[in-house]
Amino acid sequence: MFSRHVLKEISAYCNGELSAAQSRDFAAHIMLCSKCRARYEEIKLGVSLAEQLPRLHAPDELWADLEPLIDAQQTLTPVERKSWATPRMKVAIAAAVLIVVTVGIWFLLRPSTLLPSPKSSWQVARINGTPRIESSAVTDKAQLSVGQWLETDGISRAQIAENSVGQVEVDPNTKLRLVGINGNEHRFELARGKMSAHIWAPPRLFFVDTPSAVAADLGCSYTLQVDDSGGSLLRVTSGWVALQLKDRESMVPAGAACQTRKGVGPGTPYFEDASPEFRQALTSFDFENGRKASIDSLLSHARKRDTLTLWHVLSRVDGDERLHVYQKMASFVPPPSGVTPEGVLRLDQKMLDAWRDELESTWSEGNLIPKKVAEEFWRIKNGVNRRVNQLQ
Ligand SMILES: [Zn+2]
Repeated sequence: MFSRHVLKEISAYCNGELSAAQSRDFAAHIMLCSKCRARYEEIKLGVSLAEQLPRLHAPDELWADLEPLIDAQQTLTPVERKSWATPRMKVAIAAAVLIVVTVGIWFLLRPSTLLPSPKSSWQVARINGTPRIESSAVTDKAQLSVGQWLETDGISRAQIAENSVGQVEVDPNTKLRLVGINGNEHRFELARGKMSAHIWAPPRLFFVDTPSAVAADLGCSYTLQVDDSGGSLLRVTSGWVALQLKDRESMVPAGAACQTRKGVGPGTPYFEDASPEFRQALTSFDFENGRKASIDSLLSHARKRDTLTLWHVLSRVDGDERLHVYQKMASFVPPPSGVTPEGVLRLDQKMLDAWRDELESTWSEGNLIPKKVAEEFWRIKNGVNRRVNQLQ
């Protein structure tokens, strides 16, 4: 699946017309192929701009040219579709392109239907018991529309899915709402209970709000559990998840977990195979008083792999504490060339990122992520962040 380019599938992907398996292969390919990803990014930007355009009716004289083309295309088989544009048709299309800005770029991206209704729901399938959408029981399959709550009782479970995004299993005693779908971006709210998500959409298109943080998918599988106090526990099984609250962000890789608490936001990520002493010290550092003692304990119980935690702690402490964290990390994995102690201690983001790239090879023990994939991941993440900032 990595050798075949997916340029021809981009439109179908953007419109959610691929099957779940095809979407997964597509997402896996563009993670690694810069050519297809660049084209995808262009089209995605085009889609989001087009969605902001007003939709107008095409003038009658344009319809006269377009209708035969549309009819011709709809009668073709998928194989023929790839080469359906004859030179004469191409001239006609070129003319149509001139008007596209008025009628909306969506026409080009969605050749099979002229007035697409934007996606506004996820498919729901009952697994066990009687899940409910608002007050209606789900007996087999149903749709979860924007704004609606899906609720399970003590014995019921459900699966929700969207082909272009992924699928989510909803455990018993869970309350989950589809908050909104904005272009390719899907947002849920988990008020309580537990969900297991397998997401194949590109990074940062699937978000879950909890009472104490937002989980942003970065291409991954994870479980997220919200307790009655509004705190949550995130456990990542593949890829990465970002937990955010205001300017506090925790990046959680596969094999790691992170807790959140109401009023505090995300704690610090940790590997679940860290020692009990280390984890106890971290809980105390994140959510309890007695920070000085907990930092000493964290540093004395840290293993090489726990630099994931220490890397996050660096920017959450200052003064001598930051210096001690730096020294401990450097004793495991010295900063690469170009990264100076002064730079790290003043939290120079470029230097922190460069060191993290170096540390990452020690984080993935046990669930090896090839270095190339990890590098590609951070490249995409930074690119997506830049693009989001440009759009805002
Ligand atoms: Zn490609």
